[in-house]
Amino acid sequence: MNLNEIIETDAQYYLNTFGKRTPVCFERGEGIYLYDTEGNRYTDFFAGIAVNALGHSHPAMVKAITEQASKIIHCSNLYYIEPQVKLAKMICENSCAEKVFFANSGAEANEGAIKLVRAYYKKKGQENKSTFICLDKSFHGRTITTATATGQEKYKKPYTPLTPGFRHVQINDIEGLKAAIDDTVCGILLEPVQGESGVYPLEKSYAEEVRRICDEKDIMLIFDEVQTGVGRTGKLFGYMTLGVEPDVFTLAKALGGGVPIGCLCAKGRVTEGFAPGDHGTTFGGNPLACAAGLASLGTVIEENLSQHAEEIGAYMKNVLEAEKETLGIKEIRNRGLMFGIEFKESVAGDVKNKLFEQKWLVGAVGGNILRVLPPLIITENDVDEFVKALKRSI
Ligand SMILES: *Cc1c(COP(=O)(O)O)cnc(C)c1O
Repeated sequence: MNLNEIIETDAQYYLNTFGKRTPVCFERGEGIYLYDTEGNRYTDFFAGIAVNALGHSHPAMVKAITEQASKIIHCSNLYYIEPQVKLAKMICENSCAEKVFFANSGAEANEGAIKLVRAYYKKKGQENKSTFICLDKSFHGRTITTATATGQEKYKKPYTPLTPGFRHVQINDIEGLKAAIDDTVCGILLEPVQGESGVYPLEKSYAEEVRRICDEKDIMLIFDEVQTGVGRTGKLFGYMTLGVEPDVFTLAKALGGGVPIGCLCAKGRVTEGFAPGDHGTTFGGNPLACAAGLASLGTVIEENLSQHAEEIGAYMKNVLEAEKETLGIKEIRNRGLMFGIEFKESVAGDVKNKLFEQKWLVGAVGGNILRVLPPLIITENDVDEFVKALKRSI
C-alpha cells in the first residue's frame, strides 16, 4: 500500500481514537533512525513514547526475539517459563523489588498494583483501607480504574461511573497530601517524574516526606515507573533519583523495548497480598515478551545506559540552557533523557510540526511543552544536530 491508501484504510476501518495521525508510516528502523514507506529517513527523539530505549532493531533485541520465536512464543502460566523467571530475577537483583508479576501493558501493571495493595489490607482484616491518593496531572493508563487514578479530566469524562476510592492532590504539596489522608487510605500512587502531562519531577524532599508519612501511617507507597523505569531518568529506576524506596512499583514501556510487557514489582509485606487465584493473566510474562525484556533491560544494565542517559541528558540540558533566550524557552525540565522543554508561548505544536518537516520526531503537550524522549543510545553529536534542527524550527 502507498501512504494514501494506508490513511484511507485507517479512516474506514480503525476506531477514531487517534484522529488524524501524523501523515507518515514507518517501514523499518535502525538505531535512532526510522525509514518511511517512501524511503525518507527520520531521527527518532521520541522513541515510541519512551519505549525504544535501545533504538530500533537493536541486534540484541532482534537476536533474542527471533531465537525465542523459533523455540516457543507462548505457553500458559499453568507451566513454568524459563525466560520469565530469568527476567523476574534480573529485575529483583537490580532493584529493591523482591517479587514481580508480569502483565502486558503499563495500565495493566498499575491495575495489578492497585489490586495487590487493596488485597493486602483486606487479608489483614482492614476492610475499609481501600483509598488511593494520586496527583493532579498524573497519567496511569486507560482502563477505567487507571483512568480514575489519572489526574486529568479528559481521560475519564466519557467513562463515568468511575472506580470508587481515588483522591487527587497537587504535586510536591506535602500539606495538601497530609490533608487528604484518613484511615481509609491504603496507597499513595506517584510517578517519579510526571511524563505524559509535560515532564514534572517530584522533589526529593517531597518524596522523602511521603515515604516517612507512609511508614508512620501504614500506607503503601507505589511508584508508577512505566515511563521512568529502565534507565530513562539517568538511574536504572526513577525511585533511585529520589533516595526513597517504594513498596510497589510498575514498569512497562522500555522494559520490552517494543514487545508489549508490563511488570508489577513489590517488596516486603505487601507481597503477601496475592494468594493463588487472586490475580492472573493469559499473555503476561510469556516466553517471547520475557526474552525481549531480558534483551532490553539486560542491555541497559550491561552497557550502563542509565549512566549514559544521565551524562548525555546533562549535556543536552546545558546545550539547551545556552540557547534558552534565542529559542524562546521558559524552562527546561529533565531527569536523564526525559525532557520537557517549556516555551514562553504556545508554539510547541508548531515547533513539533516544523521538526517533523525536517525529519525529526518529538512530542508536544499542552500547547507550550515539547516532550523529548530519545533512545538512550544517542551521542553528543545527535544532541547537537537536534538543537540545530530546533533552532531552524523556531
Ligand atoms: C504510558 C504510561 C502508562 C500507560 O501504559 P500503557 O502501556 O499505555 O497502558 C501508565 N503510566 C505512565 C506513567 C505512563 O507513562
